[in-house]
Amino acid sequence: MKPATRIGFGWDSHEFQHGVPLKIGGLTLEHSKGLGGHSDGDVLLHAITDALLGAIGAPDIGTLFPPTDLQWKGADSVVFLREAQKRVREAGYALSNVDSSLILLAPKIGPQAATIRAHVAGLLGIPLDCVGLKAKTPEGIGTDNAAIANVVVLLEKRPAGGKPTAKAKNK
Ligand code: MG
Repeated sequence: MKPATRIGFGWDSHEFQHGVPLKIGGLTLEHSKGLGGHSDGDVLLHAITDALLGAIGAPDIGTLFPPTDLQWKGADSVVFLREAQKRVREAGYALSNVDSSLILLAPKIGPQAATIRAHVAGLLGIPLDCVGLKAKTPEGIGTDNAAIANVVVLLEKRPAGGKPTAKAKNK
C-alpha cells in the first residue's frame, strides 16, 4: 500500500548575469541582473520541481530536462513544474503544502514576497496559506552573486479516482 504522505526536498542555485531578466517563482522581477542558466534560470521553480519529483522518487529536473538538450534553452520553467505536477498526480498524490527559503543579496524579496507567494500558490493550485516563502541574505557564505532556493513539499495520497466522493461532497 502507498504511504499516506510523502515529503520532498529541492535545492537549486543560479548565478546572476547581466543581460537576462530575473525570473523568480514564475514572475519577472525588476533588477539590473537576472539568473543565468540554460532555461530561464528560475531558481525557486526549479527547487519546487525537484522537491515534487523527489517526493515520488522520480528522476530529477536535470535528468528529465538535460541542459545539453537544445529544446530547453531559454525555456519557461513552468514547463518543468507542470511535468512534475503531472507525475505527482499520476503517482496518486496531491500537493498539500510547500515551504521555501530564498537566499540572495539583491533585489530585496521582502516587499515582493506576497506577490511571489500568491503567484506560486496559483501555479501550484493550493491555498495561499499552504505556501511559505522566506527571504534571507547570504551573510558570511560568499554567495553574493548567486540566488539559492531550498524547498520542502508535503504530498498526500489522493482518494481513489482523485475526486471527493459524492457523499463527502454533500457534507
Ligand atoms: Mg536550476
